[in-house]
Amino acid sequence: MTVIKQDDMISSIADALQYISYYHPKDFIQAVDQAYQREQNPAAKDALVQILTNSRMCAYGHRPICQDTGIVSVFLKVGMNVQWDADMSVEDMVNEGVRRAYLHPDNKLRASILADPDGARKNTGDNTPAMITYEIVPGNTIEIYLAAKGGGSEAKTKFAMLNPSDSVVDWVLEQVPIMGAGWCPPGVLGIGIGGTADKAMAMAKKALLEPIDIQALTARGATNRAEELRIELYEKVNQLGIGAQGLGGLTTVLDVKVMDCPTHAANKAIAIIPNCAATRWVKFSLDGSGPAVLEPPKLEDWPDVSYEAGDNVKRVDLQNITKDDVKSWQPGDVLLLNGKMLTGRDAAHKRMVDILNKGEKLPVDLQGRFIYYVGPVDPMGDEAVGPAGPTTATRMDKFTHQVLEQGLMGMIGKAERGPAAIEAIKKFESVYLMAVGGAAYLVSKAIKKSEVIAFPELGMEAVYEFEVEDMPVTVAVDSRGESVHKTGPQIWAKKIKEENIKIV
Ligand code: SF4
Repeated sequence: MTVIKQDDMISSIADALQYISYYHPKDFIQAVDQAYQREQNPAAKDALVQILTNSRMCAYGHRPICQDTGIVSVFLKVGMNVQWDADMSVEDMVNEGVRRAYLHPDNKLRASILADPDGARKNTGDNTPAMITYEIVPGNTIEIYLAAKGGGSEAKTKFAMLNPSDSVVDWVLEQVPIMGAGWCPPGVLGIGIGGTADKAMAMAKKALLEPIDIQALTARGATNRAEELRIELYEKVNQLGIGAQGLGGLTTVLDVKVMDCPTHAANKAIAIIPNCAATRWVKFSLDGSGPAVLEPPKLEDWPDVSYEAGDNVKRVDLQNITKDDVKSWQPGDVLLLNGKMLTGRDAAHKRMVDILNKGEKLPVDLQGRFIYYVGPVDPMGDEAVGPAGPTTATRMDKFTHQVLEQGLMGMIGKAERGPAAIEAIKKFESVYLMAVGGAAYLVSKAIKKSEVIAFPELGMEAVYEFEVEDMPVTVAVDSRGESVHKTGPQIWAKKIKEENIKIV
């Protein structure tokens, strides 16, 4: 009989969450490096080197890979011979581990969980609760799969109840372009097929908690339908040409994981859950001998790359930009931003638009300014700000017309813009710039000063003023409304087809 102590369980969860906040899994780094080596689109290659550089900086500096430090998912496989030396419930122990990890004094992680999701949406303050799934299995250990899942990738989850004769491959290839770039590709697709609706979703999430091994699978060949699908979808999804950050390119997925299970004769449930550039998960077990010890990876495992802006970049002084400067920028241009910008994301935009709808004056003047969609991690030590990568711009589309009407000159975020935002950008001859999702610590090094200037009660969602030096961004929608997220994938899908490029 194994006895698991309460403190061992709590400290193992806390340590593991800290660990995955700054260490990418080794297989993930190797797969991104391979994608970087083979990439032919300079814009996608630039995004990949930023992701790799950021990853290494985080591993060295023990700071979060992404400003979105995720919602915690825990899969517990509890051996039937395990007993607990505990006065807390297992759920309470897990949540105490989450609390300790996210409030860790040396590496405080961003608390992103809001209670009352369709009401007050109040931050729980410590990133609890975790989403926990239990399995009771033979044995005398506890196996714990732990993930911290970014909201941007979780938002791109897809589900359908297909007809039994419908093609899974066709459906996945329809859905992936609709998912856009908000899930910060390249990453891994988890696919669950069969069971019931809820089981398909659970399998899609669980499928992500295995190392990347598509090359090994392709080399040995499939032995069942799920493996056949993995190989076929890996090839066909990459042929879509979506590429890193949706800029167009050779690698959209680093692997495709498929789990299936028996289902009703009338059903074929299917779910896709993507894992993003900030793929964070770990597996460990407890056997009663003490807390889990996770070996730190070797820093030589990270490729020796560093991000340097190329020769053709334009340095921009945010305080002295004219409309003509903005109009001269072309989609795909790389800019290095200098000077002061505002920040604001979902809650701040909602507040601003509510104020404008009441005919009142905004607490911050948007005339001639740029706004960065970000919710940063709190700073540590001498940092001006913690990791501060972009959040998905698409969520701000419905507010865009009204804020541009106030004289806002441009926006910075990640992923594509929808038709309403692009129309507004054209109308006001504005611009949308893209920073790399999953390169948050690297971006934060360009931020030299940070000050809250409106809505302080919104915490990480407040409006800040950042002062930046050489912050790298790419022109994603120009003042005429041309979007790299439309043209890039079209160009690269055509190129992959015409040149019969194989992504292995
Ligand atoms: S990499 Fe992108 S999707 Fe993933 S956590 Fe960061 S911002 Fe969210």
